Amino acid sequence: MAEAESIIQVHDKTFRPLILRDEISAMVTSVASKINRDFAGEELTVIVILKGSFLFAADLVRHLTMPVVVEFARASSYGKGMTSSGTVTIEGLSADVEGRNILLIEDIVESGTTITELKKHLSLLHPKSLTVAALLSKPSVHNDAVSVDYIGREIGSEFVVGYGLDYAEQGRHLADIWVYDASPEA
Ligand code: 5GP
Ligand code: MG
Repeated sequence: MAEAESIIQVHDKTFRPLILRDEISAMVTSVASKINRDFAGEELTVIVILKGSFLFAADLVRHLTMPVVVEFARASSYGKGMTSSGTVTIEGLSADVEGRNILLIEDIVESGTTITELKKHLSLLHPKSLTVAALLSKPSVHNDAVSVDYIGREIGSEFVVGYGLDYAEQGRHLADIWVYDASPEA
């Protein structure tokens, strides 16, 4: 595959490359090796938070070495725009949680509301352990109490698309991660 193009258009917005596929792959491998180390000899249930985490989860689980159960849930907070609505809706969560090692797989942690709400909900179901792996994290916009156990990479507060992440449902299929570039509109 050739080098990534220098800019792309998704809907009405322009994006430039931020994290290329080789770096993403290294981030995923590094997260997986920490999980493999921490859960050696244990079983793990991963809950993939749809839709944004589907590619991260697909790549991550293929590096895991313990027995793994894969479950899915839907958490929405974003609507169609580029800012979070602040209210989290959780749907489709039917995993067997009690007494299990639960690992939530999230695409990106922004305010942390999504993760915090999911953890609150799941902890009531008495898991053996409850941890979170996120491909990306925006520490400058976290609420105080966010804790993420495994992070691929920290970024600034910018809006990104690609590798599962969308802008109004487009851009999820892109193999690299692209950042919103406001300059062409300036
Ligand atoms: P939080 O609840 O932590 O504020 O927001 C987390 C959710 O917002 C993520 O699961 C993701 O769906 C969405 N999100 C946060 N930042 C971005 C971003 O830069 N790009 C995209 N596409 N989604 C984001
Ligand atoms: Mg999400």
